[in-house]
Amino acid sequence: MQRYNDLSTYIKSTFGEKILKLSIDAGFTCPNRLNGTGCIFCGEEGAGEFAGSRRLSITEQIDSQIEFLKHKSESEKYIAYFQSFTNTFAPVEVLRKKYYEALSHPNIVGISIATRPDCIDEETRNLLSEISKQYETWVELGFQTSNEETAKIINRGYENSIFKEQALLLHKAGIKTIAHIIFGLPFETHEDFMNTVKYINNLPIWGVKFHSLYIQRDSSLYNYYLNTRFKILEMDEYIDAVCDSIELLRKDIVVHRITGDPDKNKLFEPLWPRDKIKVIGNINKELKKRDIEQGKALGGSHGL
Ligand code: SF4
Repeated sequence: MQRYNDLSTYIKSTFGEKILKLSIDAGFTCPNRLNGTGCIFCGEEGAGEFAGSRRLSITEQIDSQIEFLKHKSESEKYIAYFQSFTNTFAPVEVLRKKYYEALSHPNIVGISIATRPDCIDEETRNLLSEISKQYETWVELGFQTSNEETAKIINRGYENSIFKEQALLLHKAGIKTIAHIIFGLPFETHEDFMNTVKYINNLPIWGVKFHSLYIQRDSSLYNYYLNTRFKILEMDEYIDAVCDSIELLRKDIVVHRITGDPDKNKLFEPLWPRDKIKVIGNINKELKKRDIEQGKALGGSHGL
């Protein structure tokens, strides 16, 4: 029994087959890093640890990622995930060229654009809206938390109101928006995690990614942790948070992921996210044990 509205079910019902995402580094930078130190957890790769090499063209990256991924799926279709850094941080004509280079590849059926809510202007929204009329189009916004104090600690660089405004504008433009959230940020509690889920529920968000915080050696979080020794989330606490979140999450929201996938060579702490299969298995076991289904806690209420 599927206890939450997962991405693979959405993909199968939309495309009739399994479709994988392949990650691209399209050569962008990030305004939050240029203006300061960037988000505290962000490593040298700009949150794109598994993306292709920026030394290659987008087409070359797609070809090499297909070669790498082809044993995982019988389908020849893929979604191009613009993952590294801020993938709307360029003039709109540059964006148009990069997005359409990916979309013109015969194996690509859609794009997913990772970015910041304070880095999408009207021209970019119009471009994404135009693309969404022909191709599957997702915009992934790094939100992480609704706690404004934590947002300052992690140097997110924008207030909740900016996220809210952009989520509403993207929805109005017909673009599917994914919220990326992190459990275990410095000094946050289970209540903070649930507040973040409630915040998402009240916006026209289409998808969510749940992620635990991990400390990479190449991020400023590494030194911050050594200085503050904030409490690191244990695996059972993360599982509890994800299960409660699924119970609280609006039924229509597509769950893209329930755990992260750290770069094992850079990971300092905690070490349990290295075993992604185990974390996912334990979450699914706990959902079953507690008879949790997505949105169960909302009862008949839609949540919006
Ligand atoms: S917005 Fe993304 S790329 Fe920029 S600093 Fe934050 S995590 Fe890194």
